[in-house]
This record gives sequence, C-alpha cells and structure tokens, in this order.
Amino acid sequence: LHRRRHSFPTRRSSDLSNMGDSFFYLLNAISKLDKLDVTQVTKVSKFYKTKAWGYKEQDDFINCCVELETKLLPYKLLFEISNIESKLQRVRELHWGPRTIDIDIIFYDDLRIESEKLTIPHKYYKQRNFVLVPLLDIIWDKKQIIKYIDKKSFNDLEEYKYPKKIGISACLLGDNIKYNGGNNYTKLYVQTLKLDYLKVCPETLVGLPIPRVPSEIKGDKVFSKIGDDLSEEFEVAANKTLERIKKYGVDIVIMKSKSPSCGYENIYDGTFTGNLIKGNGRTVDCLLKNGIKIISY
Ligand code: SF4
Repeated sequence: LHRRRHSFPTRRSSDLSNMGDSFFYLLNAISKLDKLDVTQVTKVSKFYKTKAWGYKEQDDFINCCVELETKLLPYKLLFEISNIESKLQRVRELHWGPRTIDIDIIFYDDLRIESEKLTIPHKYYKQRNFVLVPLLDIIWDKKQIIKYIDKKSFNDLEEYKYPKKIGISACLLGDNIKYNGGNNYTKLYVQTLKLDYLKVCPETLVGLPIPRVPSEIKGDKVFSKIGDDLSEEFEVAANKTLERIKKYGVDIVIMKSKSPSCGYENIYDGTFTGNLIKGNGRTVDCLLKNGIKIISY
C-alpha cells in the first residue's frame, strides 16, 4: 500500500443516495468510479442506512465510503465525479434535499484545498457519522476518525445488506468463457466488493462453444465473423437468461460492456473493426424490457 501511494494519489469519497433504488445507484457509481481512466476502487466500506441530514422530510439514505487509487488530479477527479452524478440523473432541487446520488471527495492523500469549487478535506466530514462510520471500515489510521464520532447518534446507523443476489456476467468474475477462451476478470467484483452474485453467461447458457467465432449485431440480426446468422441462438440465450435471473429473484445485473449479448448503451457495429454504435446486446434488451436494472462494466 505504501508503495502504491507513491505512484497513485489515494483519496476517499463518500457516496450517498436516497431516491429510487438507492443501492442500485451506489453500485452503479462505484462501478463507474472503477472504470475511470487511471483509477481503481481499492476498498469499499459496508453499506449503511442513515437518517436524512439537513432537510429532514425525506426517506433514509444508504451511504458508503470508497478508497480509490487514481492518477487523476483533484479538479479532474471532481469533473469526472460530476459526470457520473449527471449520468445517474441526479435530481437536486433542494439543498440537502432528495437526490439519486451524491459523491463527495473527503480526503485526497494529505492534500488541503480550499476554493469555491472544492474543499479537501471535505468541510463537514467531522460532523457526519454517516461519513465517519463507513470511513472507519476502510481507513488505516482509525484514531484520526474515531475521535469525531458522535456516540449519541451512533446507533442511528444500521448496516444495510441488499436482500437479493446481484446478477453478473460470469466473464467479469474470471470464468474462461469469452469467445477466445479468456475472461474479463475484474478485481472490483472478485476481491473488493464482495456481494452475493448470480453468474450469468447468455452465450454459453445456450450451448455456444468455448472458444467460438466472435459475433456482432448488424441491424436486427446477429452474425458471426464468418457470416453465420446466429440471431435465433442469441434470442434464445436472452430468454433463458431472463428465466434464470427471475428464478433467483434478481433485479440488478452487472453486464460486460460492448458484447452482442451483455452490452449496454454501446455495442460493436457489426463490421468487426472495433467501431462502437449506440445499442444494447440482445440479452440486455430483453432484461430491460422486463424491468431488470442494468449496470454496465
Ligand atoms: Fe461474458 Fe456475456 Fe460474453 Fe458470456 S456472453 S462471455 S457473460 S460478455
């Protein structure tokens, strides 16, 4: 850790969310932070349910703290965080009012910044148990934090565990099932964020071999690189995946980006040249139509 701190500035942030499916927004934000350039989520605290702070007439929040290793400098990081908040449709009409997601930078190494746009360490972190308690989960110097915790309201924080399994593309967990026999191992899901996962792989679920010729969506069809029309197989794969996740009561699925099955919002354009176009993979389309929430990784 010490060595890595020299090559990557480390900072911590607190995520909180209280509208819609709060846990979905948090998981989505953590995944998006991990996908930022030269950035990796290295620790995630437990999730905590807390009473709203400031404006009281609103639902409880769920919040957590994450540690990042990043080469992004503070203002660039703030810019990227704002982008993530906008992508997750932040709604903020009242100061301290309801919102889908709010990501704050609490510390950035030992740096101190005071400007109109950014204050580091965060202005209010010492007054907020919902920041301090999750921070204790991930910070090595606990003494620095523990002294600020308000013991009287300590019990207002309750650990929150999502009651359902989270669906996930099996290749992200390191299964060698990609078209080329490899995987898309992602440390975030395998080591850092330990959730109760249900692995899914639409293409192998329907019996496509490993390895296999890669496929892409072209118009309303799916073709392999050697020209086989696999539209029907991909359709069956989508329905079987839906069946599987319904059986386990899953309502959030983390899907590998760009794939003709698992891609969300962007997929390859069908020319096998690496060009991306707007669109969803066949399985993602089917899951979305059935009310399943998708996180793209
Ligand atoms: Fe991964 Fe989805 Fe492709 Fe299976 S179908 S290898 S889960 S991207």
